[in-house]
Amino acid sequence: MTPTPPSITAVLDAARLVAAHLPQTPMWSYPVLNERLGAEIHVKHENVQPTGAFKVRGGVNLLARLPRSRRERGVLAYSTGNHAQSIAYAARLFGVPCTIVMPENPNEAKVAAVRALGATVEIKGATMVEAGEHAAALAEERGLHLVGVADDPDLIAGVGSLYLEMLTRRPDLDVIVVPVGAGTGASAACLVASAVAPRCRVVAVQSAGAPAAHDSWREGRLVRRPVRTAADGLATGSAFALPQGIMRGLDDFVLVSDDDIRAAQWLLLSEAHTLAEMAGAAPLAALIAREDAFAGLKVGLVCTGGNAGPAELRRVLG
Ligand SMILES: *Cc1c(COP(=O)(O)O)cnc(C)c1O
Repeated sequence: MTPTPPSITAVLDAARLVAAHLPQTPMWSYPVLNERLGAEIHVKHENVQPTGAFKVRGGVNLLARLPRSRRERGVLAYSTGNHAQSIAYAARLFGVPCTIVMPENPNEAKVAAVRALGATVEIKGATMVEAGEHAAALAEERGLHLVGVADDPDLIAGVGSLYLEMLTRRPDLDVIVVPVGAGTGASAACLVASAVAPRCRVVAVQSAGAPAAHDSWREGRLVRRPVRTAADGLATGSAFALPQGIMRGLDDFVLVSDDDIRAAQWLLLSEAHTLAEMAGAAPLAALIAREDAFAGLKVGLVCTGGNAGPAELRRVLG
């Protein structure tokens, strides 16, 4: 059963809560980027969140609203990356025990980041799907609250605070470009834009190497697709009913190549002194790939995260 989408009131409540625990992130415009792309680009810097990615907004809102009985037992999530850090950060903030299940052969830097936030890491399963099945069984067995990936209104409402900040600061944006993995970001953008800036369009971006959300949106049903992108934050093989339903409000959904994403990553580094991980550079890749579609517009570009690992960094610089 698909949960009900959060209301704009829930997003406003979440924004107040998130503001008590996380700083507003800056949004800057870079003249060289504007000139290069022929648009007025405003980069929203979620890469400077304490966890290095926007997801922590959803984690903070979810953990803050967890009933006390559940807080005492603890939470369990499964993720290899930014979702894990988000839940671990929020759990530490509210003094909740946290376990993260990761599939085998995890990125050691990400394991270290999650452990440093005080969470317990358990390595189980060959793939994310298997890790997820293990996580569900473990949560049941230990009486822990299982945190889902995207089908949770509290996650989406928390992420909505990002788009409230953007549109409060720049209500005149013509379009917001959002990278998509599971779809919490893009669905939150749709919810907030339709409520507070209905003439602002929302365009989603995914890697052509992992098009599950894109294909689901186009086909109007949930489909699975192989994952062949190097962009961690976008490497999702399935689609989620709650965000997909809200994403009906998207104006367009664009696919970009990993090469376009790397070119955008380099452009952000060299012209906007911004270290974006691949997923965080995907919106700029969409502008590069579709320059004509965005020419002359005021574009809100979400740099969703900056957690590029050593190998990814070497590749951008090389
Ligand atoms: C998770 C993530 C995304 C995708 O967000 P969804 O809400 O899963 O669509 C984009 N960029 C970064 C950096 C992420 O961590």
